[in-house]
Amino acid sequence: MSTAVLHYTAAAVTDRGRKRPSNEDAFGFSVEEGVYLVCDGMGGAAAGEIASSLAVDELLRLLGRRAADDGEAVAMPMLAAEAIGMANEAIFSRSQRNHKLNGMGTTLVGLLVEERRVWVVNIGDSRCYRLRYRRLEQITQDHSLVEEQVRMGRMTRSEALRSPLRNVITRALGTQGKVTPDIFELEAEPGDLYLLCSDGLTRELTDALLESMLSIDLPLDALCARLVDAAKKAGGGDNITCILVRAGE
Ligand code: CA
Repeated sequence: MSTAVLHYTAAAVTDRGRKRPSNEDAFGFSVEEGVYLVCDGMGGAAAGEIASSLAVDELLRLLGRRAADDGEAVAMPMLAAEAIGMANEAIFSRSQRNHKLNGMGTTLVGLLVEERRVWVVNIGDSRCYRLRYRRLEQITQDHSLVEEQVRMGRMTRSEALRSPLRNVITRALGTQGKVTPDIFELEAEPGDLYLLCSDGLTRELTDALLESMLSIDLPLDALCARLVDAAKKAGGGDNITCILVRAGE
């Protein structure tokens, strides 16, 4: 197996879609710091936008700082859990101070990279996928009511897609005093392509379609634009955000 250093490249697009009046998704990334984030906000009025952008800003600041700290190295999962706890507190306390923001929150899916080691953090129903050798694999598990029913065998996947409860998520950042993220540790290989996205993409496009679209050899910004266009053509019922991250030698 090759031990060459991996170089990451990335591109991202966010789009309001065709039905929603505003865009409550937010994203942010730093290739240099190895941090990539997608958040999908929820809450009345402008609260969803505030929650998702606050989460991205806080996490970029907290996770991007690790390279600058020359003290003892903190293990990434611990650092990520701590940063997520602080971002949760920032959103929650802001919603407590302003009644118009009560109940606001956001999903979070993040990719954190150190050389070949990759961590995926998740809260809610935004997703991370990995394309490896033209095979797409979903890394995260949705924290949603219907997905939990499917996992317990109480609902089929097609019932879940049609359920009126499909929007209900069971974990969110900022809606309560504490939250526990899922953290997955992976090892990157040259050629891996990671997709982070909000549910506005995955509601419109099947995994099979995503797999074939991502297997086309195109620059990442062109691939992102194609994904978003396809989701809009398929309905565009929600805000659509995707980040693509490629590991290359
Ligand atoms: Ca959404």
